[in-house]
Amino acid sequence: MALTLRTMFTHAVTVQYPKEKRTIAPGFRGQHALTKRDGKAKCVGCGLCATICPSQCISVTRSKGEVSSYQIEILRCIYCGFCVEACPYGAISLTESYEYSVYKREDLLLTKDRLLTNWDQFMSGSKGEVYFKKFWRPMSEDFGTPPDQAIFKGKRS
Ligand code: SF4
Ligand code: SF4
Repeated sequence: MALTLRTMFTHAVTVQYPKEKRTIAPGFRGQHALTKRDGKAKCVGCGLCATICPSQCISVTRSKGEVSSYQIEILRCIYCGFCVEACPYGAISLTESYEYSVYKREDLLLTKDRLLTNWDQFMSGSKGEVYFKKFWRPMSEDFGTPPDQAIFKGKRS
């Protein structure tokens, strides 16, 4: 009763989502995006991200020298970020987007097109670069145009 009386005339803490939204923590790990360079996906379909993914939720196929399909089963993802760290081309990123509730389960399969759209929607321009550089160092050194694969760069004599 005392607690009720103390809080009865204070402001409600309930947020009326989606009209109101709380500020998310900087560097929040949300749904993925495939990064682009000159309007094209940087991904070459090497499959390193799929190999390292502990949830085995990435599938990549490659044909004619480029990635033909790329899918992430987002319900299985644990947002560890290993895929981002493993990619030698800075071709995949997490984003600060957390809003992806859907009505159909199949909509939670992030396809290549959806991942590329995510890039335009959430990470294009300086926004993505700042997010990446701030929260994914030192891998972010290769966010731009790596002259060589990141995993070998400057480490071998
Ligand atoms: S964040 Fe982790 S679990 Fe999710 S797709 Fe990447 S490697 Fe897999
Ligand atoms: S590691 Fe990078 S380049 Fe290779 S398939 Fe994954 S996202 Fe594409």
